[in-house]
Amino acid sequence: MRHAEGQRLAGERGMIHADALRPLAEARGRAVTDLVLAGIEASGVAAALFDPDDALAYGSPAFRALFDVQPGAQGFSDIMRHCHAAGVGARMAGSFESWMAMAREKRRSRPHRTFEIDIQDDRWCLVNETLLAGGWLWSTFTDISMLKSNERVLKLARDAAQLAAETDPLTGLLNRRAAMERLDAAIRAAGCEEAPLSLVLIDLDHFKAINDRHGHATGDRVLRHFAAAGRGRFRGQDVFARIGGEEFMVLMPGTAAAEAARAVERLRRHIAGDTAAPAGVYTLSAGVAEHDGGTAESLFDRADDALYRAKHRGRDRVEREV
Ligand code: GH3
Ligand code: MG
Ligand code: MG
Repeated sequence: MRHAEGQRLAGERGMIHADALRPLAEARGRAVTDLVLAGIEASGVAAALFDPDDALAYGSPAFRALFDVQPGAQGFSDIMRHCHAAGVGARMAGSFESWMAMAREKRRSRPHRTFEIDIQDDRWCLVNETLLAGGWLWSTFTDISMLKSNERVLKLARDAAQLAAETDPLTGLLNRRAAMERLDAAIRAAGCEEAPLSLVLIDLDHFKAINDRHGHATGDRVLRHFAAAGRGRFRGQDVFARIGGEEFMVLMPGTAAAEAARAVERLRRHIAGDTAAPAGVYTLSAGVAEHDGGTAESLFDRADDALYRAKHRGRDRVEREV
């Protein structure tokens, strides 16, 4: 093929395809393979070609540096064994043999494989493995540490923003919006489970009088005092939230109403006996209801009715729905 013909072919394809590049290179007295390899080596691309028996046929300088390829290393398993023993290159979980068995099973299992590896010096690499005709394997390694660290920073920022959006700043408890989302989710989950689910609504008694007598700042300290007392008493799976000024909610998955009422009664007694509270002893009223297959709203309303009854019957008490 003449030079001009090669150029025409390349133009038709819209890019320099290997078939078209060969005559272009040859017309200038160069071999395509030399040019491509020179490009790979000069640009610092980490790439390797393994033969069908997994012997290393070619490794670019960046590849050899990444995996600390020793002069006598014959194949993939030699290279990786050295990495494991010397603590260089790819991090391998578990024993070398189990890692190698896993890697052998995956290598050449598909025409293209893309995965991330963790390098001992805390870099991350994206590996692209391409299976060529006859079982040859071409691998490239791209440093994605920058992307990974950006990803980590973004995730931290997202987590912090989410936490702030869900948290009541005064007490550090979940806020009303987050509590209602958890309630909806628990009701949805209850549809597929047999386990009971109870909801407790708590309202501090005569809180207006506490504010009036001791000032708003002391009122705030009482709210924090209550939050800390509740947090220390409810279980990890319980959802404890501040849903209003001096109103709190406890969602108790896997808990029947009687048990939920006992838990909140223990808290009521503790609070009513705590003379060290910021404004002296204060009390709470609570209403308990158990999910009966209805909606989140109906469960909430039933607990609210029970709370109303506790207030009506003199406060400082826990009432279950009738
Ligand atoms: P009850 O026993 O019937 O619940 O009486 P109460 O005084 O607690 O009820 P009410 O709903 O009349 O008053 C609630 C008070 O809580 C009024 C409001 O000033 C106070 N409050 C609401 N949010 C906050 C807050 O963030 N900090 C403080 N210090 N007080 C608050
Ligand atoms: Mg209230
Ligand atoms: Mg109140």
